[in-house]
Amino acid sequence: MIQYSLHCSQGHTYDAWFKNAAAFDEQQTRGIVTCAICGDVAVSKAPMAPSVTRSGADKISLTSAHPDAAKFRAMLREYRQKVTGEAENVGDRFAEEARRIHFEEVEARGIYGNATRDEVVALAEEGVEFMPLPDLPEEHN
Ligand SMILES: [Zn+2]
Repeated sequence: MIQYSLHCSQGHTYDAWFKNAAAFDEQQTRGIVTCAICGDVAVSKAPMAPSVTRSGADKISLTSAHPDAAKFRAMLREYRQKVTGEAENVGDRFAEEARRIHFEEVEARGIYGNATRDEVVALAEEGVEFMPLPDLPEEHN
């Protein structure tokens, strides 16, 4: 997995994960890399920005190559509402709690929260199952 900072022609900037550099190039060539915020297809890699000052720089955001961005956002919203409605918000303890559930140290339950990039990589390597909880554009306004 490789993370790129992407920006669209409307000036939005966000982070996205791709399998590898070739996967990004191929998806971009096919025009299916879309802005996570407005669905714009004119997306390109942003120069690497210093991440020390921006709060939340360690949060993971994923994007989809779905061509029907508006419909997909509605699905994401529904999904997010369902998850956040039924699961426990463990905040920054997500990696710790997900690991405890995975290794059956605590009773299995739905949780959601935040993890750093390093924690996400570590969880994946340990075989802990988790899914990205998408940020929704409306919540940034
Ligand atoms: Zn955009």
